[in-house]
Amino acid sequence: MLFSQDIGIDLGTANTLVFVKGKGIVIREPSVVAIDQRFNPPRVVAVGSQAKEMIGRTPGSVVALHPIQNGVVADFDATAEMLRRYIKKASGGSLFNRARIMVCVPSGVTEFERRAVNDAVKSAGAKYISIIESPLASAIGASLPVTGATGSMIVDIGGGTSEVAVIALKDIVTSLSIKTAGDDMDEAIINYVKRKYSILIGERTAEDIKIKLGSAFEYEEEGAMNVKGRNLVDGLPLNIEITSQEIREALSDTVQQIVDAIRTTLENTPPELAADIMDNGITLCGGGALLRGLDKLIEQELNIPVEIADNPIDCAVDGTGVCLEKKL
Ligand code: ADP
Ligand code: MG
Repeated sequence: MLFSQDIGIDLGTANTLVFVKGKGIVIREPSVVAIDQRFNPPRVVAVGSQAKEMIGRTPGSVVALHPIQNGVVADFDATAEMLRRYIKKASGGSLFNRARIMVCVPSGVTEFERRAVNDAVKSAGAKYISIIESPLASAIGASLPVTGATGSMIVDIGGGTSEVAVIALKDIVTSLSIKTAGDDMDEAIINYVKRKYSILIGERTAEDIKIKLGSAFEYEEEGAMNVKGRNLVDGLPLNIEITSQEIREALSDTVQQIVDAIRTTLENTPPELAADIMDNGITLCGGGALLRGLDKLIEQELNIPVEIADNPIDCAVDGTGVCLEKKL
């Protein structure tokens, strides 16, 4: 049976979300692909959370990789295969050859990078493809008043990139994308623990610490947690206790870079629109928006009200949904 289906995709560095018109968000999976290198070309053995589980604990020939890096396609074949599997799953495994797919790309990607996304989606089975810049999609998903002449600011903190954009009249007026985001927070935690305690922790442990304990500003239930790592001195496993204050210190440089990106964008915004933002505030989205106290810190440093979008991780894909359902 042939039928048409409208699908929205947020192809993020950390997570891929898929929206199907009439159904809502049907897929939210990490953007990870596990490939077996014994084959030529390498064979995809798992995608998504199944593949993520394999990071750091795969047998020799199987490697788990992030096909999207800093918001752009780093491994074309792996991206296309991951999309193919998600699109098939999203459409209930049915045969379709008339899918209309809207996909988000970061603002400021080159024509070449945009084409790579387009081609990957196409080779995954789409017939009609439209591309939307992700800050615009996120602003729509966060229900900001994008169609009016009033300026709004959206800050999307993902895994590989943080994107700051000022939007008015359904267009991006000023934007800045920096390669500092959630992954760098994890790395900062790894480096901090290595420097201070001579202990090596893995990527996933670092992310876990960030989510359970991380903050950008003092908060009420400060605490501590036990962390397992490998002692760099004798190579043996070791447990240490780490506090929320220590993690805040570890994250402070990364967080500051994000604040600076917002400041720079404001400086480059036409005065009338900057005035709108001073009044109406800044909206945060993306997984990084969930870092405790980030809103407070930005508010304090820039003296502008800050709000976290409802469902910050879903904003971009929700925005494609609104567009596909022609509610805008
Ligand atoms: P992308 O758009 O790049 O795929 P996402 O918007 O899905 O990224 O956000 C992923 C990032 O958000 C990851 O770095 C993840 O660790 C981080 N993240 C998720 N939940 C939290 C949380 N509660 N606190 C801090 N960071 C978080
Ligand atoms: Mg994103």
